[in-house]
Amino acid sequence: MKLIPLSAVALCEELQQMPQSGLEIFAMFNVNDIRKDFPILSRKVNGKPLVYFDNAATSQTPQQVIDAIVDYYSNYNANIHRGVHTLSQEATDLYEAARKKIQTHFNAKFSHEIILTSGTTHGINLIANGFSSLLKKDDEIIVSALEHHSNIVPWQMLCERTGATLKVIPMNEQGELVMPEFDKLLTSNTKLVFLNHISNALGTINPIEYIIEKAHAVDAAVLIDGAQATPHIKPDLQALDVDFYVASAHKMCGPTGVGMLYGKEKWLKKLPPYQGGGEMIAEVTFEKTTYADLPHKFEAGTPNIAGGIVFGAAIDYMNSIGFDTIATYENELLEYATAQLLSIDGLKIYGTSKTKTSVISFNLEGIHPYDVGAILDKLGIAVRTGHHCAQPIMDFYKIPGTIRASFAFYNTKEEIDALVEGVKKAKMMLA
Ligand SMILES: *Cc1c(COP(=O)(O)O)cnc(C)c1O
Repeated sequence: MKLIPLSAVALCEELQQMPQSGLEIFAMFNVNDIRKDFPILSRKVNGKPLVYFDNAATSQTPQQVIDAIVDYYSNYNANIHRGVHTLSQEATDLYEAARKKIQTHFNAKFSHEIILTSGTTHGINLIANGFSSLLKKDDEIIVSALEHHSNIVPWQMLCERTGATLKVIPMNEQGELVMPEFDKLLTSNTKLVFLNHISNALGTINPIEYIIEKAHAVDAAVLIDGAQATPHIKPDLQALDVDFYVASAHKMCGPTGVGMLYGKEKWLKKLPPYQGGGEMIAEVTFEKTTYADLPHKFEAGTPNIAGGIVFGAAIDYMNSIGFDTIATYENELLEYATAQLLSIDGLKIYGTSKTKTSVISFNLEGIHPYDVGAILDKLGIAVRTGHHCAQPIMDFYKIPGTIRASFAFYNTKEEIDALVEGVKKAKMMLA
């Protein structure tokens, strides 16, 4: 059994501290016990047991996280940071404790470097908006060819506002970024580089350590979209020395509508607020408003209080399983599924990097991905079909889209067998 890719291992503190063999990990890991934590996994879809392989779009929610939502609304519901009354103080304490939990999990230096957002998209827009005031004509910003639309469009809008130029790190046939081309794109005019840690469409793990180091050498800031990485690995933000890192709770067993933006203190101090409103002010008069300290400067209005607190519960849940265990088990699923799917004639996998996570994007020759997805749904198998919010990648391969099966630690080899049977059936019906 191959262990997780080196670039991921390097970031996995626990792995470095206590190397475990695959066997030891599996002695502690019982997928059937874990599945009992997820009520939805025992439901039927179209009369068949649900096989949920759309984890890259959103993960499922364990009972422990559902309980945390119920507990908040049953016992603590109040607005935070404002009231003198007990409930408000308790809700505030829980919310701030969640922020600290997120800080600890990602190893940020200060808890005020963690901004609670509505998700990855919000975090990226917040930074893109802030850079409007820092960029000028002739400045350059660099994106990768492997991005989610939410890490492309806000930057195009930024370029329109400022006259800065957007450059793109190209990808190769395996779905990897071409690093020598990145080296050529970097100049003294480069102000910002932004890319995902792991591609949602192909699963490629990008060499972000290299990119951060090179970008810093020309004084450019780096934003990493960690939406697809944080369900699989535990990034160490101080070790990475990254300037901004964004993620969504709903891809890591948490609720929708909440996420985190990490920003180095020096950057968050420098950037202007994104939205104006309550919570983010120190003093307001009609002549002048002064802004609150970090993190509140970037948290206008009543936040998703329950979401923030429950994000903390989701992180606790994932850590109770352990990211080393998760990575090892998911890699096993990836290797098994890759081999089984490739045994089907005419099936092509897109994204074949040696460093990838448990995402398989594929097509059957001459068959539209949507048709395969519809047949799989009839069999109770949830996959995603289409461009996965990454049209430039589909354009690169000259395809309309793919079928994407993305696995989580609560999936099984039996479920993969069901997928393979389903794909064979679809092929027979559609060919
Ligand atoms: C899911 C995803 C996003 C968008 O996340 P939201 O929660 O919809 O804001 C951005 N980038 C990547 C790589 C993703 O996987």
